[in-house]
Amino acid sequence: MIIGILGGGQLARMMVLAGTPLGLRFVVLDPAPDACAGQVAPQIVAAYDDRDGLQELAERADLITFDFENVPASSAQLLAARLPIFPPPQALDVAQDRLSEKELFGSLGIETAPHVAIDRLEDLERAVVELGFPAVLKTRRLGYDGKGQRVLRRARDAEQAWGELAGVPLILEGFIDFDGEVSMLAARTAGGDVRFYPLTRNRHAGGILRFSEPAPPPPRWTSPGAEDLETQARSASRRVLEALDYVGLLAIEFFVTEGRLIANEMAPRVHNSGHWTQDGAVTCQFENHLRAGLGWPLGDAGLRGPAAMVNLIGENPPAADVLATTGASLHSYGKTARPSRKVGHVNVVADSWEAVGERCAELRTRLDLVD
Ligand code: AMP
Repeated sequence: MIIGILGGGQLARMMVLAGTPLGLRFVVLDPAPDACAGQVAPQIVAAYDDRDGLQELAERADLITFDFENVPASSAQLLAARLPIFPPPQALDVAQDRLSEKELFGSLGIETAPHVAIDRLEDLERAVVELGFPAVLKTRRLGYDGKGQRVLRRARDAEQAWGELAGVPLILEGFIDFDGEVSMLAARTAGGDVRFYPLTRNRHAGGILRFSEPAPPPPRWTSPGAEDLETQARSASRRVLEALDYVGLLAIEFFVTEGRLIANEMAPRVHNSGHWTQDGAVTCQFENHLRAGLGWPLGDAGLRGPAAMVNLIGENPPAADVLATTGASLHSYGKTARPSRKVGHVNVVADSWEAVGERCAELRTRLDLVD
């Protein structure tokens, strides 16, 4: 069985590393000749809309999946006409546009930030009055790691942000003064079997994920009388999985405020906030994504024990410096260093959440990382 992956970044690379022991083989398609998954699997170097490249991928693979969601819809359709593909292209369609994502959440009774679609400067002027300051102006498509978004704190920020982002469809969101950020990752098979990973707490800086851990939420995030966050997140995730007849791994990111979850966005793929599962869960997200797509039995998504993930951004620290921390596993992506680029992550395990925290703090100090 050969799995074709559209996109050859670190997510594809880790799918290959997780799927190889299961007897799977892979081929990736990526326009960058030095795509990091190309170090561990054969690569077709082609643009995502290159018909010859897509044709070759279809000929060499038995089943298609993605390492990122911004593949042109026409490419996904071209492949879907030739061979099975997961997650369903419809899920990609929805996730490519922040507005359709929010509309789906809304139609399923999942709360989102208040928002207004912005196509003209007049829309923005009206929307800042409606939503008030602060607010966040984002491109509807192709944003990631905080790119394509600006926080507006006063009227002149709106003009400046418009100058920087205009020209593509935008969305203005009310600013959520959140207590924390969490994500729910779940895998679903075509037969409807679902496994939920424990709710993961995430910390971002500069719009980029820095730290994730599946530790129980602190009591101050909960509100008396409200359903616990894990239950709320599972319920929202199940509704989305079923509405899209989803196959594979789905991640939904939420803000936590006053004991409620507010859905921010979803990713129809394996997700950075689930990298801890490689060392902290019985079955990692990459393996469960593949199992789901193959219609194989899903693996236990429960914890092996306390675990956390620290992202390595911008530069690759010496491996020995990472490994000097007890319980730390290095997952390097084989990428060259570049500011703000995700180049690897470290998973840290221990016998208690407190010890995980201490080991992460030690690691951050040694590597001089942003908290
Ligand atoms: P996103 O690209 O939507 O995932 O945004 C990246 C990060 O920016 C989020 O994880 C939040 O930390 C922050 N952010 C995005 N949207 C909002 C919002 N409406 N209110 C507050 N913070 C936000």
